[in-house]
Amino acid sequence: MCWWIDLDNTLHDASRYILPEIDRSMTHYVAQTLQVDSELASTVRHDYWIRYGATLLGLVKHHDVDAQDFLDRTHVLPDLQRQVVPNPRMRGLLQQLPGHRILLTNAPLQYARRVMQHLGIAKAFHAVVAIDHMWIHGHLRPKPSPLLWPYLRRQVAARRHVLFEDTLVHLKQVRSRRMHTAWIVPPGAVARGRAGRPAFVDSKVKHFAQARAWAMRLAQTGQPGSRRTLMR
Ligand SMILES: [Mg+2]
Repeated sequence: MCWWIDLDNTLHDASRYILPEIDRSMTHYVAQTLQVDSELASTVRHDYWIRYGATLLGLVKHHDVDAQDFLDRTHVLPDLQRQVVPNPRMRGLLQQLPGHRILLTNAPLQYARRVMQHLGIAKAFHAVVAIDHMWIHGHLRPKPSPLLWPYLRRQVAARRHVLFEDTLVHLKQVRSRRMHTAWIVPPGAVARGRAGRPAFVDSKVKHFAQARAWAMRLAQTGQPGSRRTLMR
């Protein structure tokens, strides 16, 4: 088994400080780079995110922005340690998943390592795949690029692959590749009970910890069973 596990809003709540702070930093970066006011910069940032899945891809494509410079300057997050709440149970729960455990995030590696350290889960993973590792044939191909999954799966010898993720468009992309999917409902999302579960989701839970029973059964039987919703 290979467990691919997202970071932000899957293993911790990034909605209150981290993601708003990154959005602010990206808007500031776009305003400086394009020499526009913050209102137009915010529109451009959002437009590139919608069109390409990441603001960075639009900036590289249309404005020849240096990817590393962008990532470094938009993920400073001076208050990160105070904002990431350690979860003492998380490391043990992760380590009970048998097989390869790989953290998979569209965020930069340095940021991912900082968050993992604050959460106390750095040693629970066999590898970390961050956006730094998603250059394929000279182009950045983060989630949900259709080129990313064939590239990643060639590098891991496992018969079954499972993705834990809060972003539905990422889950939809992998389900068509016969991977199993667990949707960790992000904080604040309006999606209650069975009604809010898309067909490409095998299991839907509010917290990663709740996905453990489903994951363990999948590991033991090789079958996801009836699609599960464990919302409370
Ligand atoms: Mg996420």
